Amino acid sequence: MKGSITIGADVTADVALSCDVCIVGSGAGGSVLAAGLAEGGLDVVMLEAGGWFTRRDFDLQEAHAYPMLYQDRATRATEDLAISVLQGRSVGGSTTVNWTTCYRTPDRILDHWRTVHGIEGLDSATLAPHFDEVEARLSIGTWPIERANANNRKLYDGCKALGWQTGPMRRNVNGCANSGYCGTGCPVNGKQAMAITYIPDAVVAGMRLFADCAARRIEHEDGRVTAVHAEVLDRATGRPRGPRVVVRPKVLALSGGAINSPALLLRSGMDGGGRVGRRTFLHPVTVVVGRYDDEVAGYYGAPQSAGSHQFIDRGPDRLGFFMEAAPMQPMLASLPGSQMGLDQARFMQQLPHFAGLISLQVDGLLPGDDGGRVRIRRDGRIGLRYPFTPALAEGFRAAHEALVRVHLAAGAREVWTLHNPPVRISSEAELSALDARRYGAHDLSVFTAHQMGGCAMGPDPETSVVGTDHRMHGVDNLFIVDGSVLPTALGVNPSETIYGLAHRARRFVGEAV
Ligand SMILES: Cc1cc2nc3c(=O)[nH]c(=O)nc-3n(C[C@H](O)[C@H](O)[C@H](O)COP(=O)(O)OP(=O)(O)OC[C@H]3O[C@@H](n4cnc5c(N)ncnc54)[C@H](O)[C@@H]3O)c2cc1C
Repeated sequence: MKGSITIGADVTADVALSCDVCIVGSGAGGSVLAAGLAEGGLDVVMLEAGGWFTRRDFDLQEAHAYPMLYQDRATRATEDLAISVLQGRSVGGSTTVNWTTCYRTPDRILDHWRTVHGIEGLDSATLAPHFDEVEARLSIGTWPIERANANNRKLYDGCKALGWQTGPMRRNVNGCANSGYCGTGCPVNGKQAMAITYIPDAVVAGMRLFADCAARRIEHEDGRVTAVHAEVLDRATGRPRGPRVVVRPKVLALSGGAINSPALLLRSGMDGGGRVGRRTFLHPVTVVVGRYDDEVAGYYGAPQSAGSHQFIDRGPDRLGFFMEAAPMQPMLASLPGSQMGLDQARFMQQLPHFAGLISLQVDGLLPGDDGGRVRIRRDGRIGLRYPFTPALAEGFRAAHEALVRVHLAAGAREVWTLHNPPVRISSEAELSALDARRYGAHDLSVFTAHQMGGCAMGPDPETSVVGTDHRMHGVDNLFIVDGSVLPTALGVNPSETIYGLAHRARRFVGEAV
């Protein structure tokens, strides 16, 4: 079988294909799955809505990268615009733009899935061989703390000074130039993203990849998928160019990621008994910035190289959270809803002296925390609703106090929240100023780079969308292999969990052909 990469501009007439497995989406889940299936001799066709780019396209310019490499040109948000949603859209999916932090799935999460969601057979011993394989292929290894940039160093040193848990991170890099521009696509192929690892593996083994090609509808009959209907897009505008692609696979694997995989199912009239799109989790992120006398230059150097799980478990009634650093490139640092007006001007003028630390709330673990919901709006666009619960507000408040204390312990002159106007704190004695502000929707800037769930895994068709073998309940030849199957948030960055689950899913999908 001869593999190929076809970009939208090269498709001039309708295309009709048949194959063993059609994979929709080329991100963390789809790529790992594709390589295994193609190397196993199966005829694989992959459809990717985003474009195919190489390192020469990555010029470190945020203004170029965000429209080119992110969903909705990086303007995706919840329906009430309270949460900005950063999510990738190109060959390689979010791995093209992610910040390379890798963690195996924590035991406490796997235990939670077993005891609360009935998921058997997913324990660290079972997953270990899968993680071993992807770690080897993606060069996942510890990034020495000595190479951490000053931004991450503030987190590390602040936590150490407070006696809090902290440590270096593992990253999927090989030959990393430490530029810090992972979020705009790696210009030196240091990041071991899907477009330079598992995608070429799959193409060499015979996979046919169609970039700029968005799956719009799944045709199905009597509990079986019969075809996938896709449109070829104009890369510049994102609008359909005219030609259509119809794939008739023996097996369909959906790997469009959280939000988009449920959306495609909903558009196709496959709502899984009303469960598709529900239980969507975001690891909601808040940012606290600290101004330092020394230059931090948080836009240079590996975006994330130290983390803290000091507050990951705050008991059965409160959301846990973890703390990391975020890159400080100017456009990212001025996310919608951040500083405004004069505050924004002052912030930008002093950007080199600001460190940006983030907290990520672990949603989906508390009883009754069902997270957000994906739906198709009347205008046909994807909608995402995500409630700001009292527990979330309490988690944000607690995380603000922790991050302010870290900054102060690391020597910050002044610490700003991303309320509008910001709370400004210069000493621990002023921490109570945090109580004077609210932590609900639109009270402060919130974003997500980790979308999870929407097609939750579980043994019971009454409470989940896919079985533990990734097969959609009630649809014989449809598998979902991406972040949408996660039944809760993880409490760690999700990419490696998705790589590992996709590696494990190869067998189930292959056996279904
Ligand atoms: C800025 C940023 C930083 C991040 N940093 C980290 C990090 O440091 N560590 C970490 O672990 N995680 C990080 N993540 C998250 C991580 O990259 C994702 O969780 C992971 O890649 C999700 O994998 P996935 O397979 O579910 O989806 P994705 O990797 O998002 O891939 C889905 C792909 O499917 C395509 N698609 C969707 N619908 C269709 C359709 N209908 N037709 C055709 N194609 C379709 C999309 O265009 C996309 O390319 C980050 C994410 C972002 C955005």
